[in-house]
Amino acid sequence: MINVTKTFLPPQAEYQAILKRAWNTGWMTNRGILVQELEAVLRAYLQVPNLVAMTNGTLPLQIAIKALGITGDIITTPFSYVATVSSIVWEGCTPVFVDIHPNYLTIDETKIEAAITPSTSAILATHVFGNPCHVEAIESIAKKHHLKVIYDGAHGFGVTYKGQSLFNYGDVSTCSFHATKLFHTGEGGALFCKPAYYERMFYHHNFGHDGPEAFYGLGINAKMSEPQAAMGLAVLPYFESILKERKAIVDTYTQALLSSDLQLLSIRPNTIWNYSYYPVIFKDETQLLQVQQALNKAGVFPRRYFYPSLDSLPYVNGGVCDISRSIASRILCLPLYVGLEEEALNKIINIVKINLC
Ligand SMILES: *Cc1c(COP(=O)(O)O)cnc(C)c1O
Repeated sequence: MINVTKTFLPPQAEYQAILKRAWNTGWMTNRGILVQELEAVLRAYLQVPNLVAMTNGTLPLQIAIKALGITGDIITTPFSYVATVSSIVWEGCTPVFVDIHPNYLTIDETKIEAAITPSTSAILATHVFGNPCHVEAIESIAKKHHLKVIYDGAHGFGVTYKGQSLFNYGDVSTCSFHATKLFHTGEGGALFCKPAYYERMFYHHNFGHDGPEAFYGLGINAKMSEPQAAMGLAVLPYFESILKERKAIVDTYTQALLSSDLQLLSIRPNTIWNYSYYPVIFKDETQLLQVQQALNKAGVFPRRYFYPSLDSLPYVNGGVCDISRSIASRILCLPLYVGLEEEALNKIINIVKINLC
């Protein structure tokens, strides 16, 4: 069976050797040596001033909304994983959807200002598939209207935009280290923020503790544990080779599909991308379903990332986005992972091509 992704696992002995160091301390969580070490190596590797490692990639979004004191309406994208929008609703805010750019698939920055009202307090946008939002335009809109900016960077690990980590943009940026993501800790994630917000974000992720008997304010438990950090420390040394192998697969797909009728993802200029997903957009949903069925029959299971469009969720009422709904109904992510063999890759390409006619 070939799935859309397959978790990269380092040699087990390497994971165990790292985990053993935590074992020897008898300390499995509460910011043990491995979590602190992972934070330090990620700061250096990503060139970000600070980050807080967390237990998944959803809590950083919720903590960002809470800790920045955001209330009321949040302008967001309808084309993302559900966690982007569920976090807004979970925090008692209201999502207001702005449609996406048809080629970049990120929020259409030219449509944001028209959606701003006196109730708007923030913009929460996703660098979907690791493709950067138009961060400059969003920053200037946010400045003009005194809005906070949060980026869901769940897919953004290793991406640079204009020479800087994508996580350095916005007031707060997040990442997911879930096992289906590019860099992973099994479950896990991180929050990145401007230095001025670091202390607040840190306290919020640890029950609001300020020392064992004092409290800074309200908090929750979003701490990463030592076994999670051990996985991250074991995977990170392989990250460059992971990127290299994924690039080769992406290049093969693109070479084979560039001249077809499929729409491929356009990466924003000035971006060094991370090959995190390989979405293809069909002319209509019927064609998508036909290709999906043919692939399933051959034991290949791509995923409809991201379907349905989030403006159609049953618990939101933030406007209808036609472009997002159209793309969500026609987009399929093809298998892309370390270890995907050439024979399988060619089989996938052939099935896709045959079923386009
Ligand atoms: C995976 C993902 C998340 C959630 O991350 P978890 O680590 O699974 O909690 C949030 N946003 C997007 C866009 C994602 O793809």
